[in-house]
Amino acid sequence: METTKQMKALDERFYMPAFSREIAIVKGEGSKVWDADGKEYIDCVAGIAVCSTGHCHPDVVKAICDQARQLIHCSNLYYVPHQGDLAKKIVEVTGLHKAFFSNSGAEATDGALKLARVRTGKKKFVAFTHGFHGRTIGSLAVTHKPGIREPFEPLGLPVTFVDYGDLEGVKKAVDSDTAGIIVEPIQGEAGVIIPPDSFFKGIREICDKTGALMIVDEVQTGMGRTGKWMAIQHTKVSPDIITMAKGIASGFPMGALAAREGLEFKKSEHGSTFAGGPLACAAGVATLNVIEKILPEVAVKGERFRKGLAKFNPRVRGLMIGISVGDRCPEIQKKCAEQGVLVNCAADGNLRLVPPLVITDAEIDRVVKVLNGALG
Ligand code: PLP
Repeated sequence: METTKQMKALDERFYMPAFSREIAIVKGEGSKVWDADGKEYIDCVAGIAVCSTGHCHPDVVKAICDQARQLIHCSNLYYVPHQGDLAKKIVEVTGLHKAFFSNSGAEATDGALKLARVRTGKKKFVAFTHGFHGRTIGSLAVTHKPGIREPFEPLGLPVTFVDYGDLEGVKKAVDSDTAGIIVEPIQGEAGVIIPPDSFFKGIREICDKTGALMIVDEVQTGMGRTGKWMAIQHTKVSPDIITMAKGIASGFPMGALAAREGLEFKKSEHGSTFAGGPLACAAGVATLNVIEKILPEVAVKGERFRKGLAKFNPRVRGLMIGISVGDRCPEIQKKCAEQGVLVNCAADGNLRLVPPLVITDAEIDRVVKVLNGALG
């Protein structure tokens, strides 16, 4: 096995330097990971809200291995093993009508934008300040952060950005040519920003009046992360399209969108070589079955974090936790890693914790202790 030093040397010489990183993670089990030098960590990053069932959950490993022995790939020219099962499950957990798979969150965003355009016949989109929807050209066009969007302009989609939470701004931005309003129920990359339920009710009303589609991006917040299958379910608002990815297959690359009745791709309107392949769908079905069992515990675990971190005013929804710490974020992240806890800095000095949904009470207590030390 390579050491961290060896991995770093290869990375520096051969890999494009798009990331800043120090630690090499080589093994995981439950909420724990180990680096290439054998150091153990409690992982409150979880591949950024991806390893929902923990690292290498035995049910997920078995589903992937069993499927790999049968068939790794066949193409969407044929019916694909587990694809129908997973689509059924996604329809059930979203309350929508049909699903379609992608390989990532960004591709799910692109699919949702395409679906909105093709079914409404309209062109424009409304998105929100500090929102993040991916890095493909399409998904980047609705992603706000100027630093990651502007170097790649023009991006070819007419998008109006409105302040997150500003319903009056949405009203002004939407017109008769608006195909969709894309919104995160909680902004994750921005640092776990939770708007009031009335914001989503207002967007729904504006969509109903104008015929624009309400697209809710649950890539980070979905699949049980906030204590409900979808974070928008806390608000009782029913969107037209929901996108998801990250936690859907425990780390096997996969994304999906689901849409209400009447909104579907017709023949040849969309597709992908790899999306919804047998391994991804096997991992997805196993993941959703595990999440179904542990979902009621997620909110309880979130409250344990809230209580333990109360003096730092955390923003908590299930196991999605943000704490404003300002400039000290990188230093706190480093201190926690030294003490064996992985946390991550989202935008604007916000520390973000998105641990596996299987994190134990003892692990939460350890994280809380380390964070209290680092933050205090
Ligand atoms: N949408 C949201 C809300 C996200 O948080 C992300 C990634 O962080 C994406 C979309 C893009 O997903 P991916 O990185 O899988 O393309």
